Amino acid sequence: MHELAAVEAMVKTALSKAAETGLARVVGMHFVISAGGHVSEESVQVCFMVASHGTPAEGAQLHFEWNPPRYRCFECGHEFDGRRDDESILPCPQCKETTMLVPLVEEFYLDSIDVE
Ligand SMILES: [Zn+2]
Repeated sequence: MHELAAVEAMVKTALSKAAETGLARVVGMHFVISAGGHVSEESVQVCFMVASHGTPAEGAQLHFEWNPPRYRCFECGHEFDGRRDDESILPCPQCKETTMLVPLVEEFYLDSIDVE
């Protein structure tokens, strides 16, 4: 459950940022997720409910933005973005050869928060 640990750390970050601004409640959390990883919105929601329980972030609205998966062609090295719901590896749009998914730099992170 490394997602729970990640979400707990993000809730902690959000709460300390809220405290810095002198505002009491975190009402929104904006996450960015890279497609092709293991993170899903549903699992983040569940982790967030656990991680925020009893904190001033409890009940915050969660927002998700998806980074498209990125592919690189074995043959010509061309790189291109796929779509979030791509089910399989896409062929290269230039030479039609096989491509690989470019390893994700950061699969999942907290982009910004809303405080009140
Ligand atoms: Zn190619």
